[in-house]
Amino acid sequence: VKRRRVLLLLLLACAGLASAPQRPPGLADVRKIRHWSYPNYTRVVVELTRVVQPSVHRLAADTRAARPERLYLDLGGVWVGRRYTEPIHVGDGLLHGVRVGQNTLRTTRVVIDLKRYSRHRLLVLQAPDRVVIDIYGQGRGEARSAPTQDSLLSGRSAHRVVLDPGHGGADPGARGIGGLLEKQLTLRLGLALRQRLVQRGFEVIMTRASDRTLSLEERTVVAEAAGGDLFVSLHANAAPRRTARGIETYYLNASDQRHNLTVAARENNISRGEVNDLQRTLATFRVSEVSPYSRELAQQLQRSLISRVRGAYGDVRDLGAKRGPFYVLFLSSMPSVLVEMGFLTNQAEAARLRDPAYMNLIAEAIADGITRYHDSLQTIAAVELP
Ligand SMILES: [Zn+2]
Repeated sequence: VKRRRVLLLLLLACAGLASAPQRPPGLADVRKIRHWSYPNYTRVVVELTRVVQPSVHRLAADTRAARPERLYLDLGGVWVGRRYTEPIHVGDGLLHGVRVGQNTLRTTRVVIDLKRYSRHRLLVLQAPDRVVIDIYGQGRGEARSAPTQDSLLSGRSAHRVVLDPGHGGADPGARGIGGLLEKQLTLRLGLALRQRLVQRGFEVIMTRASDRTLSLEERTVVAEAAGGDLFVSLHANAAPRRTARGIETYYLNASDQRHNLTVAARENNISRGEVNDLQRTLATFRVSEVSPYSRELAQQLQRSLISRVRGAYGDVRDLGAKRGPFYVLFLSSMPSVLVEMGFLTNQAEAARLRDPAYMNLIAEAIADGITRYHDSLQTIAAVELP
């Protein structure tokens, strides 16, 4: 009797193997699934081996089947097989967890079991190819993401500054004259700026303080986890045209359709054509909530940079404070700007950027700009809110 049972079990096991779905050719894979819990939302990132445009659906709770409210994403052309037999536990008060499975032979389904839900946003990013879903829930810091004038007025401060030296590690950023690397300049400026801000009484958080590789999510994870009040991403510009020069500061605003596609493509690590898609995607999101603050911050920094550099060098091209579609700005929930400190492909500016005196000067200028932004917060809250 015992032997027969073993045989039966073996047969069942074989039957199980036989019915395991065969993987069709040409599908992408799920690389990994990561999640982060922020004060006001939870981010789920599905890393893939290829770009996929998912569709997102929302399902109401099913009390009879004891299923909570949930979101699901269907990833067409993606194979995950039976890799995730157990749900990924999140349990942060907003999400129960994430389940992943092969829904059809050619579709992977990601199910997000919700505890509280008010809205979500979806973004498809590249290099590495991934899908980002941010889930916002009622009751957890919702005042910040669905602001009224009062909550913005009382809640917005500028004490905790997040500095983000662009690129780093395996990503050198732009390459300039004489082998000048953007990642080195951004770190030098970040460290010089930190010192000055701390002297002025600001609290400073760095996304990186050494030469290391950081994904866009990791940069914003640092910012969000620290509860930053504002986010300043530091970069140096490059252009095929050697005469291109000047300083510019970007802030995120999705309503404008005219952007510097070249800068956005380079800083986002995507092609110019893909920037168009990104703009269309961004246009559907509610990024206008913090834009008056981001714009004010960008204008203060740009003004301060131009006047300082003009004072010391007599000549610098003011490329302005302008709107641009940058992932790192989009992924931050706080007022965020991106500073392009000069062109390392321009002879004169590359020479300046190599000079520690210039770095100290622009660090001083940005510290001035942040101080002015800090001081002007009350005024813009009263005057410029939509
Ligand atoms: Zn850059």
